[in-house]
Amino acid sequence: MSELSEKVAIVTGGSRGIGLAVSQELARAGCTLAIIGRNKKRVDSAVASLSNNGHQAYTCDVSDSVDTLNIVKLINNEFGSVDILVNNAGITKDNLFIRMTEEDWDDVINVNLKGAFNMTKALARNMMKRRAGVIINITSVVGLTGNPGQANYAASKAGLIGFTKSIAQELAPRGVRCNAIAPGFIDTDMTAELDDETVKELHSRIPMGHLGRPSDVADLVRFLAGPAAHYITGQIISVDGGMVM
Ligand code: NAP
Repeated sequence: MSELSEKVAIVTGGSRGIGLAVSQELARAGCTLAIIGRNKKRVDSAVASLSNNGHQAYTCDVSDSVDTLNIVKLINNEFGSVDILVNNAGITKDNLFIRMTEEDWDDVINVNLKGAFNMTKALARNMMKRRAGVIINITSVVGLTGNPGQANYAASKAGLIGFTKSIAQELAPRGVRCNAIAPGFIDTDMTAELDDETVKELHSRIPMGHLGRPSDVADLVRFLAGPAAHYITGQIISVDGGMVM
């Protein structure tokens, strides 16, 4: 038996990149997965890539509170209850602040920060009642340091850090843990948008000299979700090759 056998986990944005690696790792650890994304084809193919059976794909925009509540109801009906929530769905809409539109600000805050609020809101009461549950938020080192051209993204990720620490304090007495992972630069579709010059410059800022892999983040999710992390809550842990110390 693996350490997460019989646990049910939701991974938002589990269809690609870090979320897909997290879903695959949690499936290997014994979880049954509910994978959420906006694109049906992509969530279906993510589910098809998992190691065992019983996983389900759901299409939902996490920034929509009604949509989110309905999907969580459906997941609860199908699986009974949810043990692990990984708030991973995220987008970027980068621009220098002076050129950033209100729409780009709202879109990024609504997916990255309000999306985590919507999902957590829909699940927390049940976890508290059962006096068990794990919430893991995927923030970013940029939420710790800021980044030129990413005022919206950095604000959303810094917001997630405050959210994580507050939820951790409120829910700890009810047996629910909440931590956040702050990846540095990880090789996914999101970073594929960067030009060669930027990637070269990034390498020079990473003491380990290379971008991380989605599985580097997934390994930490597996640890934080499992029994070995039972006394860890309210923490922000970087996975960044030493970029931010
Ligand atoms: P990615 O490859 O672009 O994947 C993003 C995932 O989120 C996709 O599955 C996408 O699926 C889903 N998604 C986006 N908007 C959504 C919405 N409104 N509702 C539901 N699902 C949505 O990104 P990634 O690089 O794996 O990043 C994953 C997380 O790690 C993000 O929160 C990101 O900010 C964070 N992060 C990434 C890096 C990095 O270097 N890659 C560094 C630090 C933090 P659909 O498009 O099909 O909806």
